[in-house]
Amino acid sequence: MSICLLYLSSTIFTYMYLRQRGFRLIVIVFLGFFGFMSCNNTLKENTFIEKDPMADSAKKAYLEKIGAAPKAPEQPFVVDSTKFYIYLTFDDGPQPGTINCYNICKGEGIKATFFMVALHQQRKRDGKQIVGMIRNSYPQFLLANHSFDHTMEHYQYFYQHPEMAFDNFMRAQDSLQVPKKIIRLPGNGGWVLQNQMKTSHLVSAVAHRLDSAGYNVIGWDVEWNFNHKNARPIQTPEKLAAQVDSAFSKHHEYMTKNMVILSHDRMFKRSEDSASLVKFIQLMKQNPKYVFETVDHYPGAKK
Ligand SMILES: [Zn+2]
Repeated sequence: MSICLLYLSSTIFTYMYLRQRGFRLIVIVFLGFFGFMSCNNTLKENTFIEKDPMADSAKKAYLEKIGAAPKAPEQPFVVDSTKFYIYLTFDDGPQPGTINCYNICKGEGIKATFFMVALHQQRKRDGKQIVGMIRNSYPQFLLANHSFDHTMEHYQYFYQHPEMAFDNFMRAQDSLQVPKKIIRLPGNGGWVLQNQMKTSHLVSAVAHRLDSAGYNVIGWDVEWNFNHKNARPIQTPEKLAAQVDSAFSKHHEYMTKNMVILSHDRMFKRSEDSASLVKFIQLMKQNPKYVFETVDHYPGAKK
């Protein structure tokens, strides 16, 4: 700024001096223009220097902290034909147990998918934070749609009214802010992928409606069953691991070398049952050919 003032004062002084000496106006104008350009450049340089060099990085760190940072471009998924893919899925969250599933999978460094219910998000005190935490943890965890209200457990009525059911899923998509078009039907293991569909007669109309809107529907191959009275797992981790090995060896999976495992968040709310989840994951990890993935990478899934 001080350089700029120097230029201006020297220009005025030069102008007065040259005028006294009888120089022509064009020469004076040329000198004035030169002074102006120098001043302008100095202002630009000063603006750059005065900018806080930490501003951008501090802003980026803040956005990352609140989970609002722009996401890095998604890396293309490449299938390794020597591997067997395991898609561990947790249904009906957010519920007591969701945080345990999240922490265990994070601790074990594996990917998993959470099919969530919008009404459970509304009813749980910290529901929105839990759903947001899952949503922001992609690509390790994938948030997916499991309807707005889980049909209120009236499955027949729900699927017999396909437009109403479709609206229910769209409401959940909006309420949960689900990032991808991936759905699991409540109480039903139907499949809808690119150019293929496998469903029961009951859900067929809803499945077609979702398909025409570009949605995938993901069923499952193996279920970790639970006692409906206390939500505790029925199979031991060893038994479930043996079931997965057996299903692969007998080619019982819907898509070769891809195994979707259904479980529910609430099965792992107790510490002893959380330990079973840890054990199951560790058993699977012992096989170097097994890879945990999220269901958006299931073969044939529409983008
Ligand atoms: Zn469910």
